[in-house]
Parts: sequence; C-alpha cells; structure tokens
Amino acid sequence: MSGANGAILEIQGLKVHFPVPRGVVKAVDGIDLRIEKGETLGLVGESGCGKSTVARTVVGLVKPTSGRIVLEGREIQDLSPQEMRPLRAELQMVFQDPYASLNPRMTVASIIGEPLLIHRGLRDTDARVCELMSLVGLDPSMRRRYPHEFSGGQRQRIGLARSLALEPDVILLDEPVSALDVSVQAQVMNLLDDLKKRLGLTYLFIAHNLAVVRHMSDRVAVMYLGRIVELADRDTIYAEPMHPYTEALLSAVPVPDPVVEDTRERIRLEGEIPSPTEEIIGCPFRARCPKAFDRCKTEAPKLKEHAPGHFGACHLPEENQSDE
Ligand code: SF4
Repeated sequence: MSGANGAILEIQGLKVHFPVPRGVVKAVDGIDLRIEKGETLGLVGESGCGKSTVARTVVGLVKPTSGRIVLEGREIQDLSPQEMRPLRAELQMVFQDPYASLNPRMTVASIIGEPLLIHRGLRDTDARVCELMSLVGLDPSMRRRYPHEFSGGQRQRIGLARSLALEPDVILLDEPVSALDVSVQAQVMNLLDDLKKRLGLTYLFIAHNLAVVRHMSDRVAVMYLGRIVELADRDTIYAEPMHPYTEALLSAVPVPDPVVEDTRERIRLEGEIPSPTEEIIGCPFRARCPKAFDRCKTEAPKLKEHAPGHFGACHLPEENQSDE
C-alpha cells in the first residue's frame, strides 16, 4: 500500500540533533523527501552531510529529534524496536562496507537465511538461500563458505541477498558501491538495476559520487550540512543545476571524452565548512560559495520550487529574476 499521494516512503520535517559537550550537532536539520513506489531517489553529498543519518533514522537505528517518517501510509518514527520488527519485511538497509557488515563467523547460508529464521521462524532455509544466491549472481554451491572467502563485490552480493530474504518493498542503499573497485562497481550497479525491475523495488540510493547516483536514480536530492539544497529529476539536475554546491559537485565528475575532460572547468570550493556546532546565520554554504552576495550573509534560503519539480535552496534564481 502506498501513501495517499502515491508515496511509499515520506520524510517530513526530519531533524536529528545530537547533544555534544560544546552544543548541538545538527546532523539532519529539517528535511522533506518523498519516494514514489518503484522510484530510485539518489541522495548525494560530501561525507558528514547527514545523508547516512537520514537512512539510519528511517530504519530505526537513530531516534529522530522531530519530524515524521511515513512508510506505506504508516507513521514509524516513534515505534519501538519490537514494533519495528514486522516492518523489517518491508524496509531493509544495505551498508557501505561489505567487509564489516557480515559476521565473519557465520557461513553465507546462515547470514542470508538468518532473517528468515528470526522473522518467519523458518528452520529449513536452504532452498530459499540457494534461490536468493542465484538471484544476486552467486553460485549456491558456495553457501557453506565464510565471508572472508569472497571478494568485495561478492560480499556486497551476499549483503544484498540477505536484504532480499524477506521480500522488502523499499531498500535503503548506503554507499553500496563506494568500497568496491571501479570495475566491480558497475557490475553491482547493474545487478541493483536488474533486481529493481524484476522485483518491483523502491530504492533510496545514498552516495557521495554524483556519477554513481546518475546511473541509478530517477530523481536526485543534494544534501549539504544536514539540509536538502537541490532536488530535481536526474536529467534536469545534471543539465541545469541550480545550486552552486551542485555545480561544484558536478564539476568534479570526470567526463569519458578525453578532449572534454582536459578542457572542462573544475570548480574548487574554498573556504571553511562551518563547525557542526556553529549557529549558522544566512546561507549555510556562504563561506564556500563562489557566487555569494550580500543577502546570503543574513538570510537563509528556503527550499523552493523554482521550476516544475525542480527545487533549490538558493537566493540566486530570485536575484536573477529581479535583475531582468
Ligand atoms: Fe551561494 Fe547565496 Fe545561493 Fe547560498 S544563497 S548558495 S551563498 S548564492
């Protein structure tokens, strides 16, 4: 079942603030996201921008400070771990590090079959484990082996097979290919694409690399210091980025054509990122923004729809309009 407006997962006004000795770290500071059934939403930003905290909060690993998380029409942000348990069948998370996220003392069969044992009480999981291994391109005859006997790409496939065991509707993929060699990244991304189509999955795909997000996403949200600064469909955000931060991230993506690659302009971000506990006045990106002007010092831009489906948190579009 989807929410009333077709969304399978909705995040509204989400804040995650952590008290620290010198103040409060605003890891996530009021974000809204909506993911439609069957969609892949890319969530991109530098490390520390809060994107992983968003995913960890959605699956209940981190408690939100405020805001709502609605999964298939049901509010889940205040559920206890016991109440979240049945929802594991609908919502799964795949972590970045396939080396750290698999228990080294368990066989692959136990790792993949464990959710079936815990959530469904199944004792004989062998046939389903073999099926899941085939689904992710692993040879089922290797199911009695241990994680260290597999390559990084194979371990990420094991993590995926485990996440698929309960037939979820939504998978949160937290940097799922960042720890892999470039040649293996493409294979895992193709597998994710294929699984999405075959199983009708919905993804939140988190990455710091805009090239990876482009390959996978229908829409892309760009995050900076705990806030969404731009959101649009994939083609729009790559062809017509609105926010100077998105422009800078895009300028760092290599172009396959060597002639274009040699001549293209790279935007180097200078200036300091504000300390996570600093009270920010004006635009949070101001200290690094090559286009900052007076208004940016005093007024924080709100995320607004500047063109149909294209949202940005920057004063520039309004400033340019008033100049015309
Ligand atoms: Fe740059 Fe100003 Fe836009 Fe912020 S509001 S991104 S400082 S131009």
